[in-house]
Amino acid sequence: MSERFVASHIKALKPSGIRRFFDLAQSMEGVISLGVGEPDFTTPWSVIEASYHSLERGFTAYTPNAGLLALRQSICRFLDTRFHVQYHPEDEVIVTVGASQAIDLAFRAMLNPGDEVIVMEPSFVSYVPTITLAGGVPVVVDTYEKDAFKLSKDAVEAAITDKTKAILICSPNNPTGAVLTKEDLMGISEVIKRHDLFVISDEIYADLLYDDMYTSIASLEGMKERTLLVSGFSKAFAMTGWRLGYVCGPTALIAEMLKIHQYTIMSAPTMAQYGAVEALENGLSEVEMMRESYKQRRNYVVKTLTRMGLDCHMPGGAFYVFPSIKSTGLTSSEFAERLLMEEKVAVVPGNVFGDSGEGYIRCSYAASMKQLIEAMERMAHFIKQLTAEGS
Ligand code: PMP
Repeated sequence: MSERFVASHIKALKPSGIRRFFDLAQSMEGVISLGVGEPDFTTPWSVIEASYHSLERGFTAYTPNAGLLALRQSICRFLDTRFHVQYHPEDEVIVTVGASQAIDLAFRAMLNPGDEVIVMEPSFVSYVPTITLAGGVPVVVDTYEKDAFKLSKDAVEAAITDKTKAILICSPNNPTGAVLTKEDLMGISEVIKRHDLFVISDEIYADLLYDDMYTSIASLEGMKERTLLVSGFSKAFAMTGWRLGYVCGPTALIAEMLKIHQYTIMSAPTMAQYGAVEALENGLSEVEMMRESYKQRRNYVVKTLTRMGLDCHMPGGAFYVFPSIKSTGLTSSEFAERLLMEEKVAVVPGNVFGDSGEGYIRCSYAASMKQLIEAMERMAHFIKQLTAEGS
């Protein structure tokens, strides 16, 4: 009966495919999950302590809407030192409830009904729904394994219409781990500037890059005024549960986003913000340690999957591998469901990240080496069984 009280555009929204697998895996015994995208590390201890001490000192009230000034200052210093982008803490930064809220705020502040946003796929499951919820129209540009899942400037150009307002990019990407180099970004920037567009750059995995130096599109000539830089603490600092992110961009747009934030959120959690200051000021050596560990696991997982006969491109960042399972003859969902039921290993079918993800699975290597070894053994057994069935 309560069904008729639900708005029809919300009814039309599909629940996240990742969540479904996560819930199923949680309801079973003995499952090794390579499903969810979160670090297996706990948050650095000094960050926990800083947050704890803020509570002890009685800092339990709201912060300014845009976030603690000290945190905004730390964010600006961090972005400047590490990625060479300069923002003013006073009016170019909002501390948000995860990068998730920053993405939602961006679309809500920017889109008029019918405005188009170009989105690369396979990509994070929230982009298309948040564009749609904000009244915009997602225009998907597929990326392919043969191009190392990189977004090409020609594909972007071909997708532009007179309704295009913005382009969403994510590098390193979830689920493919693809990294856009400075040259790739320069090409895309040229198209953006020529067509007078804007970019939302999801840089949440920027600190989990294994082989190259990171380039933020906002640091390129003429791009800062056309970019919203979205990032957060969840991944590199192992702080998913703290729900803290940020968005930086041009003052006028940030001011509009801040209005939505004021009315809907007020301010991000105060104790989490005190922890985040410590993370940025003193937590980078722990990030380095985690990055080194992810890199070793990445190398092990890619090597092992390749040995099993699965094509697996080497991801440059984030903590996912995205091997092709096309040689097994199964669909992504069939593969993931059978792997879960028969071997108790949870992975995510690639098609939940967009149609072009069909034929792939996403495995997160943010799990301990012990778990990864066991998961790879189970997966090898599964592939062997499949081969035996087929022969
Ligand atoms: N962007 C990408 C690409 C992600 O993978 C995720 C989390 N899976 C987010 C944003 C959201 O992160 P947060 O926890 O900061 O909301």
